[in-house]
Amino acid sequence: MKVLVPVKRVLDYNLKVRVKPDGSGVDLSNLKMSMNPFCEIAVEEAVRMKEGGGGHAKDAATEVVAVSIGPDQAQETLRNALAIGADRGILVKADGEVEPLAVAKLLKAVIEAEKPDLVILGKQAIDDDNNATGQMLAALLGWPQATFASKIVLGAGKATVTREVDGGLQTIDVELPAIITTDLRLNEPRYASLPNIMKAKKKPIDVKTPADLEVDTTPRLKVLKTAEPPKRQGGVKVKTAAELVGKLKEAGVI
Ligand code: AMP
Repeated sequence: MKVLVPVKRVLDYNLKVRVKPDGSGVDLSNLKMSMNPFCEIAVEEAVRMKEGGGGHAKDAATEVVAVSIGPDQAQETLRNALAIGADRGILVKADGEVEPLAVAKLLKAVIEAEKPDLVILGKQAIDDDNNATGQMLAALLGWPQATFASKIVLGAGKATVTREVDGGLQTIDVELPAIITTDLRLNEPRYASLPNIMKAKKKPIDVKTPADLEVDTTPRLKVLKTAEPPKRQGGVKVKTAAELVGKLKEAGVI
């Protein structure tokens, strides 16, 4: 079984986002970029399907291909996926923001060429929190989708996926080929070891352009304004429970 994992390069999750002074977007200059955490979970799951682990039989996956759409530097993100254990990478070179629909169209073209049995994406990219690409991709391909996966059990020609939904867990079967998107509790991604980082340098990365895939990535959305969230007002410390009750009454909460 071949598994394809789309991975996005985003601002490292530990860093605080700064808005550009003219409000035209977020300032990414000279900041550390990393693999989107939900994509790391997707790579980890695919690699466990290959190695055996996380309840998967060894060799359940025979090949894991990581794909990233982004600038040249997105190769680093692919190398990271290769160090976790993916076999090869595909970079679709695109500078500037590529919207989820264009990403989904590019991924569809890659999938038509690669013919994977399973595609595992992150449920959302933490930069713009779209939570849209997996769903759009499933619709474009006409494939079943299981979003927000916290457990995946592979069976003959199908996957049984536990989904994190409001108020509980839902378990569904999807026939392969299918799209799965990862939630936080699916697994804990490993730290890539130094030998694996070295090995990853030798693994192949194929470079393509949107033109090669015949996809138009012209944005359809226009960002009108980007702003910081309002600053939190300082709180008040109370000394006694009675004082707290008084304050709550004052505020009309009770
Ligand atoms: P989003 O819909 O933008 O929140 O992203 C959801 C998931 O789609 C991510 O976790 C990735 O798996 C995939 N994805 C989004 N953008 C890209 C990209 N530029 N390159 C590769 N994968 C992407």
